[in-house]
Amino acid sequence: EQEPSSFNPASVTAWEKGQPVPFLFLALAFDIISQKSERIVITDIVCNMLRTVMLLTPEDLVPIVYLFAKRIAPPNEGLKLKMGKSIIIMALMALYGKSKSWIKTQYKEKGDLGLVAKESRSSQSIVSQYFKPEKPPKALTIRKVFNTLRLIAKESGKDSQGKKKNQIKALLVAATECEPQYLIRLLQAKLRIGCAEQTLLAALGQAAAYSEKHSKPPPEIQSPLDKASDIVKQVYSVLPDYDKIISALLTEGLWMLPKNCKFTLGLPIRPMLPKAAKSVTEILNKFQGVEFTCEYKYDGERAQIHYLENGKVEIYTRQAERNTEKFPDVVAAVSRLKKKSVSSFILDCEIVAYDRATRKLLSFQTLRTRARKKVETKDIKVNVCVFGFDLLYLNGQELLQENLRVRREHLYASFDEESGFLQFATTLTSNDVEELQNFLYQAVGASCEGLIIKTLNEDATYEPATLSLNWLKLKKDYMNNLGDSLDLVPIAAFHGHGKRTGVYGAFLLACYDNNNEEFQSICKIGTGFAESDLVERSSCLRSNVISKPKSYYRFGETIKPDVWFEACEVWEVKAADLTISPVHRAAAGIVDPNKGISLRFPRLVRLRHDKAPEQATSAEQVAELYKAQKHNQANKEDEDEEG
Ligand code: ATP
Repeated sequence: EQEPSSFNPASVTAWEKGQPVPFLFLALAFDIISQKSERIVITDIVCNMLRTVMLLTPEDLVPIVYLFAKRIAPPNEGLKLKMGKSIIIMALMALYGKSKSWIKTQYKEKGDLGLVAKESRSSQSIVSQYFKPEKPPKALTIRKVFNTLRLIAKESGKDSQGKKKNQIKALLVAATECEPQYLIRLLQAKLRIGCAEQTLLAALGQAAAYSEKHSKPPPEIQSPLDKASDIVKQVYSVLPDYDKIISALLTEGLWMLPKNCKFTLGLPIRPMLPKAAKSVTEILNKFQGVEFTCEYKYDGERAQIHYLENGKVEIYTRQAERNTEKFPDVVAAVSRLKKKSVSSFILDCEIVAYDRATRKLLSFQTLRTRARKKVETKDIKVNVCVFGFDLLYLNGQELLQENLRVRREHLYASFDEESGFLQFATTLTSNDVEELQNFLYQAVGASCEGLIIKTLNEDATYEPATLSLNWLKLKKDYMNNLGDSLDLVPIAAFHGHGKRTGVYGAFLLACYDNNNEEFQSICKIGTGFAESDLVERSSCLRSNVISKPKSYYRFGETIKPDVWFEACEVWEVKAADLTISPVHRAAAGIVDPNKGISLRFPRLVRLRHDKAPEQATSAEQVAELYKAQKHNQANKEDEDEEG
């Protein structure tokens, strides 16, 4: 067995086997970790701490892990740490005999009430009313702190502020060394030591592997420590409940954990999240040859809705916290709109503020104005609509291992849609870049943030808690990725369909090649227009229609516009990026011997009255922009590799 090498805070704060673990042990560990930066070292320290606790006082493992995770209860209990500043300031004022303005100035200087508490404690004695030298308070223990934090979080109603303040004071009176600092940070649920929950989970797995007395790792496992970390992380992603996980670890052992801690209806799964792509290019490259689907990216609150066999509904946030009380209207809607054949489900969705009269999505800011606790349906002013996009469980069956196509079929078959109450996320399954682009603009036009692009058939299982490459987000900001705009000339147009009859539906734009004195097609632009611009441009260009393309127009054979124009005006256009194109002819022969360059996701910025068509962006400039983009991308990739 290989011993971890790092410093162990237990050497500073020893305690007898079976005795409660001192809080100082944890506070010192926080302090040491905050001075380290390497993940491996931090994991090692946390692992050592947890091993020590497992060995000496295993009953304190649950509270120490909770505190490390800045939590005080499993998610379904709905008990949260997050004390406001004002009440902490009041407690510090009373305890250290300081004025409010003094504390506020210190806070401004140090940016951390925890530090203010620590320094006040070391430089100043506690107001004598609270501290009796003849009867000094007992040293804090992990249990005491954990239980008090739970009590504080539970206080509600009249006098609750005063009671909370007194509880905080009682903890601070007994706190020494760096304890006040971390007590305050815990109260605010902001540890700021650079140790994320994933590191804690990895360390818990390793500590369990070192301490394992129940069974040996299966022989096929090459590196048991890594495997141990993965097991705990995986189990936590489907059952984020430290009470259950630790109890199973201590009784049945690590290697049995996946068997003993399974995903449970009624308890949240860590939601799957999309990875941020850096550009449209990255998204399109990643999904080349893969079947994918796009959905509107709604701007509301992520919700995981559990419907239990007994008809009870629970709603969880993205952080897997219980949020049922905030949405009695959602509870009613899902219960009403589920099909009769459905007896239990977990719906993954976005809850969005919604105006039922105009059938419009409202902003996230509007949603935030809703009360959070003990909401009664009659008091609700901001209505919401649930946009369902995934189904993780149905009638006793887990669906996580199914691909999205199957999960979606179950989703569509399980609910009746009702406008403004429960709808399915708007989707498009296509790999046509132009359709994708139109869909993106449509999403943005409907007040969404962009799109989420998801694999549909292969590599399309639900991956709890991971930032998955199987889901990528395409935000509207990417549309302006190409910093510079281009000045381009409309040389042809395509008739509009549907709403756009009477105006042109899309235009063919060209750059100007000074050397050959020709206009070279660079992209079609059909979206990203205000309706009024579209009408105006269409009517201006209609008077410049010519019967056939000019001999100095260059464009791919597959482009078949309905009308051609005299080159007569210049449009400033922004775009997401430039790409080599077999269809368009811009800068053909400069970057690629045969192919041209085209713009992806072009958007009209304005008309350039001050420019003549021959002063449009030149083919050489287009080639330069393309090279600069490639150069930037290579640099970004290098940066990523360097971490
Ligand atoms: P940030 O991470 O920048 O705070 P964010 O909270 O919006 O932004 P993102 O990673 O940008 O998170 O986007 C993921 C979120 O998008 C999901 O957690 C979910 O709330 C929301 N969302 C909206 N529509 C969908 C959809 N169709 N599929 C999946 N998630 C969606």
